[in-house]
Amino acid sequence: MLHYKYLIIGGGMAAASAVEGIREVDPGGEIGVITAEGDPPYDRPPLSKQLWTGQKKMDDILRPVSREGVTFHLQRTAKTLKPAHKQVTDDTGETYTFEKLLLATGGTPRRLPFGGDNIIYLRTLESYRRLRDLAGREDAFAVIGGGFIGSEIAAALAMNGKKVSIIMPEKGICDRLFPADVVAFLNDYYRQKGVEVLANEMAANLEGRGADLEVVIKNNRRVAANGVVAGIGIIPNVQLAEAAGLETGNGILVDAALRTSHPDIFAAGDVANFFDSALGARRRVEHEDLANSMGKAAGRSMAGEPVNFRHSPMFYSDMFEIGYEAVGELDSRLNVAADWQEKYHTGVLYYLDESQVRGVLLWNVWGKVDEARALIAAGEKVSAASLKGRIAHS
Ligand code: NAP
Repeated sequence: MLHYKYLIIGGGMAAASAVEGIREVDPGGEIGVITAEGDPPYDRPPLSKQLWTGQKKMDDILRPVSREGVTFHLQRTAKTLKPAHKQVTDDTGETYTFEKLLLATGGTPRRLPFGGDNIIYLRTLESYRRLRDLAGREDAFAVIGGGFIGSEIAAALAMNGKKVSIIMPEKGICDRLFPADVVAFLNDYYRQKGVEVLANEMAANLEGRGADLEVVIKNNRRVAANGVVAGIGIIPNVQLAEAAGLETGNGILVDAALRTSHPDIFAAGDVANFFDSALGARRRVEHEDLANSMGKAAGRSMAGEPVNFRHSPMFYSDMFEIGYEAVGELDSRLNVAADWQEKYHTGVLYYLDESQVRGVLLWNVWGKVDEARALIAAGEKVSAASLKGRIAHS
């Protein structure tokens, strides 16, 4: 049986940040990290962005996690959690006891009901290596899903000279995020970059094998590809928490100190459902800034610091030459007041719900995230017209 003062389940960005947070408060307490991955923590966003553009190399993405008093148990999956005994057992039968536990279990890619291992679900460094290796040898790629992974990896592969088709059931690229005119613009933009955009199309099957594959679309059309990548969302890993009787509901519920319903068990990152004080609502957020800020705060909280987590997370993306940062709720069902300096090139888009700003999209506009956060947190009633110029474009 192994004992750690701090035990962390999960080895992603939230876990790495939690180690930093613990060390800021407690320089010596033994930390154990159980992770299903074969790699120690790394930054995940470059897997679909900068590793493909040459802006980052593999060494740049490895997290400089303190090794002093930290033991990584790689390729282990925690199977049971007994809160009353403060005990965790992994898939090899190893048992761990803890004083404080962090659940940073993240999410598992949603899988298609066909294609098996012929489809690469881009999420881990291992899946990146597989895709990169294939892209080094092969030419044609089909991307299933038009969300974050789909839009980013389709652009990344095309920028590496690959023939790319992107297939999605929605009206276009990032349809859940952006208003219809921006989605239509993006469809055209990707087409101009040589990507075949198959919107309103559902991938129904995958035939062939090796590097000779065909994605069968519902209308029986076929897309030939040497490799298939999918990004169709993740399912938060709540099973351990649920079976242990912790409170869950779209994730593991945490309070402002990032504690679950058990006082010595904390949760952070993609899996945590927290109260976003700027939006005045509970939510779960699957982005880097949240994983890093919440992971660090959870680590400090575990080590005994009073923590009142109030960070309003931002996110960002790159699609060819377009880049953006965003805060709050970007839901294309909200009303959007667009303040373009140059249409689809530079602008600020305000997402409104009953005259309140719920989200801000900074399209090729940089350094304005804090202003956007403040605007959302202010919660004032605004008209679309009054938002013109509210956040400057430069
Ligand atoms: P995502 O952004 O949620 O997009 C997945 C899309 O696939 C959704 O629009 C989803 O529709 C759709 N979908 C569901 N089932 C499908 C099917 N059978 N066929 C085709 N499309 C289907 O998720 P993701 O792109 O897979 O990304 C995974 C996670 O990584 C997310 O948590 C994301 O936030 C994170 N990530 C973030 C960034 C960033 O911050 N820039 C970059 C990469 C990844 P429904 O909404 O109807 O399910």
